[in-house]
Amino acid sequence: MKAAAIIPAGGIGKRMGLGTPKQFSCLAGVPLLVHTVRAFEQVAEISAIIVAAPMDYLQHTRQLIEQYGLYKVKVVTGGELRQDSVQAGLAHVPLECDFVAVHDGARPLISPELIRACLAAAQKTGAAMAAIPVKDTIKEVGADQFIVRTIDRKTLWQAQTPQVVRTDTLRKAFTAAAEKSFIGTDEASFLELINVRMSVVEGSEQNIKITRPDDLLIAEAILMKKEQPSTPLAAPSLRIGHGYDAHQLAADRPLILGGIEIPHPTGLSGHSDADVLTHALCDAILGALGAGDIGRHFPDTDPSYKNISSLKLLARVIATANEQGYTLGNADITVVAQAPKLAPHFPAMREKLAAVCRADQSAINLKGTTTEKMGFTGRKEGIAAHAVVLLQRQAD
Ligand code: MG
Repeated sequence: MKAAAIIPAGGIGKRMGLGTPKQFSCLAGVPLLVHTVRAFEQVAEISAIIVAAPMDYLQHTRQLIEQYGLYKVKVVTGGELRQDSVQAGLAHVPLECDFVAVHDGARPLISPELIRACLAAAQKTGAAMAAIPVKDTIKEVGADQFIVRTIDRKTLWQAQTPQVVRTDTLRKAFTAAAEKSFIGTDEASFLELINVRMSVVEGSEQNIKITRPDDLLIAEAILMKKEQPSTPLAAPSLRIGHGYDAHQLAADRPLILGGIEIPHPTGLSGHSDADVLTHALCDAILGALGAGDIGRHFPDTDPSYKNISSLKLLARVIATANEQGYTLGNADITVVAQAPKLAPHFPAMREKLAAVCRADQSAINLKGTTTEKMGFTGRKEGIAAHAVVLLQRQAD
C-alpha cells in the first residue's frame, strides 16, 4: 500500500486570537504543524506528505519543514475553506499513491499507530476514518435556548482525522461537490454525496483539535505525560547524593554524633539534638532522591522537632527512599572536629546508623579529621560533617 497524506493547514485561525495562525503556534517548543507532520513521517506506507499552507505563510512553512528535517513534505498553497486546501493537495498526490489520508493540521497529537490503523481499515473497506463514540448526553436545542429533545447517543460518533480514502474515489467526490456547490467539513461528508460508505476506526481522546488557546495547554499536558513515562523502570538504578552540615558548640548541651552521646565539656546547639553527622547523612540521601534538604522536610520552626533525636529524622528519610524504591548502597561520612577524639565511638555509631538505614554496617564508613586548629572547627567553635551516599534501586 502506498498512500499520500494531505494536511490542510490553510486557515488563519481567527478563533485563537493569536498573531500567527494556530498551526504555527508552539507546543512544547515545537510548532503544531511540525508535530503533526512528524507523526506521518514515521509511517512507512506514507510516501508523500502535502501540506496546504496559507498563501502568506508559504515561505515560513517551507523554512520550518527544512529546519526540522522533514523529508517527505511538499508545501502547496491552501485555500480559505478546508476543502479548498484538500483539493489543492489532491492535485499534488503522486501517481503511485492509491490512497489519500487527510488529516487536520491542528491535530498535533495524532499517533503513527492510529494513522496505520486507519490505513489498514481503508485498505479493507475502501474508506476509513478515526472517530470516537460520544460520551456526553446530546441535546437538540432550539433557537429559544430550550431543549427540543435528547438524542440517543448510542449511534453517535465524533469525527476525527485522519480520514483515508482511495485517491480516485476522493477525486470523484470532490467533482460531485463542485457540481453541487457543496461545502463540507470533512471527507466523509463528501463521500456521502457519491454514496460511498466510510468505516470508522476507534480514534483517541488525545487526538484533540486545537481550536482555542486552552486546547494548547491541554495538548501540552498530554505531550509532557507521553514524554516522561513515570514507570519505575524508567528510574535510574543508582543515585548519588551529597550532604554538608555544621553546628555550633555550646557549654550547656550534650554532644550527640551518629546517634551516640559522647562525653565532652561542650555539645552542639540546634533545634533538634543537633547531630551534625546524621544531618549530613540525611541531606545526602534527600539529595540523591532529588528531594531537597532536611530543612524542607523538618523545618526548625516546627516545635515537634525540638530536641528530637536525629535518628528519627533519618528513619523518615530512609522510609522516603524506600517508598521511591531505593535502599542505601553505601555512605561515606567525614566529621570535622578538633576535639574530642571520635574514632573510639565510630563502631557504636555505625551500628546505630546501619540499623536505622536497614543496611549492613559495612555500607557505612565513618571518618574523622581535624583542621589543624584552623577555622571554626579548629578553634572548637563548632563541628562540621560531610556525607556522600549512593542509593540503589531495588529489583522490581
Ligand atoms: Mg543540622
